[in-house]
Amino acid sequence: MVEGGLVERSLAGSSVAEGLKRRAAPLVERLAVIGPGLIGSSILRAARETGLARTLVTTDANPAVRERVRELGLADEVAPTSAEAAAGTDIVIICVPVGAIASVAGEIADRLKPGAIVSDVGSVKASVIDKAGPLLPASVHLIPAHPVAGTEYSGPDAGFATLFVNRWSIVTPPENADPSAVATVAALWEALGANVEFMTAQHHDLVLAITSHVPHLIAYNIVGTAADLEAVTQSEVIKFSAGGFRDFTRIASSDPTMWRDVFLNNKDAVLEMLGRFNEDIAALARAIRWGDGEALFDLFTRTRAIRRNIIDLGQETAEPDFGRHTRGKDQQAAGQ
Ligand code: NAP
Repeated sequence: MVEGGLVERSLAGSSVAEGLKRRAAPLVERLAVIGPGLIGSSILRAARETGLARTLVTTDANPAVRERVRELGLADEVAPTSAEAAAGTDIVIICVPVGAIASVAGEIADRLKPGAIVSDVGSVKASVIDKAGPLLPASVHLIPAHPVAGTEYSGPDAGFATLFVNRWSIVTPPENADPSAVATVAALWEALGANVEFMTAQHHDLVLAITSHVPHLIAYNIVGTAADLEAVTQSEVIKFSAGGFRDFTRIASSDPTMWRDVFLNNKDAVLEMLGRFNEDIAALARAIRWGDGEALFDLFTRTRAIRRNIIDLGQETAEPDFGRHTRGKDQQAAGQ
């Protein structure tokens, strides 16, 4: 297996991006990525740099994306359909929005060779196993995974080879999954620079509900609330956005299709976490109403420690203002 987090040089002498390591031999012969958007094109780029597969195949439902992928030279073959991309392939990674994963699984089912591995990168996992699993033949291995890495951008131009370096990829094998297929998917993510963790799909969905899905919902909601305000003008919202709002707008600019599908497919876990959130925010409102400064101070001290932990674990920069280089200007705009 490839160690993550290393600065390495290609065996052939050409440079490999920091955190990626050129392999002595491919992990698989043919790797297919269906949906070369932000995540899919990042996999293709990192796979190319590391020599993960002898042949990289891709396809997208959108002809314009297929054309762009050809221009960017992201794969050796750009197939016209998902079924053709999957034919004779060792590993197929489905990188489309969660709501479309099962239909892609149905499209490729007949063309998969026995022993092939089907994986995906969807942000929700139990629904993938429930909906895509029954559509695949018993002779192939479904090993879902979720790289906990991304940006608010979409499409093949948004991807980059080092997206997964030092990030977590959560592999969620179904019960009775073939151990060697699980090991191959783990090795693939390690080769892309990620650290791998294993969880059940149900546990993954609960963890991600609080660490990703509810925070996105809060961001969408607060930006929506600000947009609907009557007492504060739009230009004031934008002008003074560096007071905190701006950081929510980054999250709230994430792809609408992807996030609609996340909430529709992780309903129970999101509603459970949202219930907890609503109780806690009601307690905060009470503390503010009754002037309970101690309660507010205690919470803000605990939350500051959580951020410190995230920085210490290398999952965020400690630079002021999230590493933005326009700090002076922002401070003026925010009046800080
Ligand atoms: P993206 O940039 O929008 O790329 C998705 C691509 O899939 C698009 O090119 C889309 O084509 C294509 N597509 C949609 N339906 C398809 C179908 N039925 N067959 C073939 N191609 C199809 O999205 P992304 O951000 O890479 O997200 C992809 C997956 O990764 C999602 O399941 C998401 O939950 C997961 N994920 C995302 C992030 C993140 O931060 N963005 C992080 C981790 C995991 P169109 O151009 O026609 O839409």
